[in-house]
Amino acid sequence: MKIYNTMTRKKEEFIPVEPGKVKMYDCGPTVYNYFHIGNARNLLVFDVIRRYFEFQDFQVTYVQNITDIDDKIIAQSIAEGISTEDVTAKYISAFLEDMDKLDIKKPDFQPLATQYIEKMIAFIQSLEDMGAAYESAGDVYFAVEKFENYGKLSGRKLKDLKVGARIEENEQKNSPFDFTLWKNAKPGEPAWQSPWGKGRPGWHTECVVMSRDLLGDTFDIHGGGNDLVFPHHENEIAQGESIAGHPYVNYWLHNGFLNIEGEKMSKSAGNFFLARDILQKYSAEAIRYFFLSKHYRSPIDFNEEIIIQSQAAVKNLYHSLKDIDYLNFSELPQYSALQMELRQQFINVMDDDFNTARALAIVFEAAKEVRNKNLVISERMAYARLMVELGEVLGFFRNLKEKLTDVDNFSAKTASLVEMLISYRQEFKKDKNWQWADRIRNDLAAIKIKLKDTPQGTEWEIEDE
Ligand code: AMP
Ligand code: ZN
Repeated sequence: MKIYNTMTRKKEEFIPVEPGKVKMYDCGPTVYNYFHIGNARNLLVFDVIRRYFEFQDFQVTYVQNITDIDDKIIAQSIAEGISTEDVTAKYISAFLEDMDKLDIKKPDFQPLATQYIEKMIAFIQSLEDMGAAYESAGDVYFAVEKFENYGKLSGRKLKDLKVGARIEENEQKNSPFDFTLWKNAKPGEPAWQSPWGKGRPGWHTECVVMSRDLLGDTFDIHGGGNDLVFPHHENEIAQGESIAGHPYVNYWLHNGFLNIEGEKMSKSAGNFFLARDILQKYSAEAIRYFFLSKHYRSPIDFNEEIIIQSQAAVKNLYHSLKDIDYLNFSELPQYSALQMELRQQFINVMDDDFNTARALAIVFEAAKEVRNKNLVISERMAYARLMVELGEVLGFFRNLKEKLTDVDNFSAKTASLVEMLISYRQEFKKDKNWQWADRIRNDLAAIKIKLKDTPQGTEWEIEDE
């Protein structure tokens, strides 16, 4: 399996720290608001990567933190007139709800920063003891010059940063690039007692402490959006490697942005759509398809037209299963050489840095064979089995049974409504009320239901969209 590593800017063979196990960490949300559809991209990408490792029989430990202490949370508590605890409780529960609606599997661990304060204080203390950090007026900073390899992930060298960069001067810091490990609290802000007075940890310290605690001091995969490469992940490396003296993470994975008109979707720019609002209009699977049909590292432009097309494409998968009466097969047939080959192609493309776009195309190829009336039924059924197996790896087909039954109930109800309208139309025609008879025909035509009058009565069909 090959994975693109941001650290080396190359696709590398994946070799886990412990054979058969994958330990991965993704930087989760700061819970001061509902998350937007750009954040959803990050959540979905790492959900699929995790599922693929599990499909490949790795024992996966997946950690995604929740940042529940931050300046933005404090600002939101003032804006909403509620405590910071109430802000985080509200948005954590909304986050979990939206994740579930997006069919995202729960990570194995979802640590909260506030559960780790003591460990963070001890960690900062160790950095200070070894001379990598210093206190200044109640704040503690990491001295970037003490870490020789600072900048190795982002490719930014300290000396280059010093030249062009316009970085805010801060008299408390020795160097403008030193970053905060511990932040002195202002009166009224949430604070914990520490050797440096009352305060709270910095974000870069939160992630490095929680990931090391749950996954060990060298683990396999650390993920996040592209925006986190610098400074967040760079700063995690500086701390983790200063303490351990060896690599903190072996593979750094970063997803591309969801853009709007070429600009990153973000709360601060105000150009965002909340995931929960998008989910009101489109299914979780349509959104998943929309993201997975592009490589996770490429930028994607938000485009509702394409989400609508994605929704129709996913519907096709369900039509294939209905077509073959998937639920009524008591036993699924074994794969023949043809399905085994298609399955292997899926593995090959996913092994190539998780090429979900091509993997999706393979799921649709299987769906096409399910509908292929030239094949014997057992062969079509074997393709259906493959389509479901591979689709599930990409996170589709949750609650398949309910969904297929729903489709059945829905179709049955739609059919009786159409029959009902046809009988009303008959009545209108008998009364020579042509206006209403035509209205029924035209209104049905507008939603692609076509009526055909025959000597045996009125037939109807749904036109292809
Ligand atoms: P935040 O709450 O802004 O820290 O973001 C949480 C996660 O979503 C991080 O991994 C970000 O890199 C990622 N993210 C934020 N905005 C976008 C976007 N527009 N497209 C893709 N990923 C994003
Ligand atoms: Zn992080």
